[in-house]
Amino acid sequence: MHEWALAEAVIATVIEESRKEGLVEVRKIKLKIGELQQIETEIFEFALNELIKVQGTLITKMKVEMDIERAIFRCRVCGNEWAFGDASKMSEEESEAIHFAPEVAHAYIRCPSCKSPDFEVLHGRGILIEYIKGR
Ligand SMILES: [Zn+2]
Repeated sequence: MHEWALAEAVIATVIEESRKEGLVEVRKIKLKIGELQQIETEIFEFALNELIKVQGTLITKMKVEMDIERAIFRCRVCGNEWAFGDASKMSEEESEAIHFAPEVAHAYIRCPSCKSPDFEVLHGRGILIEYIKGR
């Protein structure tokens, strides 16, 4: 039900931002979905469409475009930057754990260069609304 909660948050934000901008109709939004979020995009899209249907006229014609943003990490010790897929060979169990709690990434991922677990996530976390188009 993770996807439904995220879809609700996106819709709420879109409505709030559109009202602030004084829009009367939202035509299109573009979302960037962080790779670490690992959501089921089919469920997420379904949830968005269902929520769009029950909302008022502001977003009934809204189209949603989505892009996946690759996860990029930076080591705090040596400054090395690397992408999620390169980090390590994770077992299915580990990548499941990260699906449910991206915070646990630190328990599994190490800097490929110096092996430090002390890194930050530069990109690829959460969902970002890149733009809202309307009139
Ligand atoms: Zn390092």
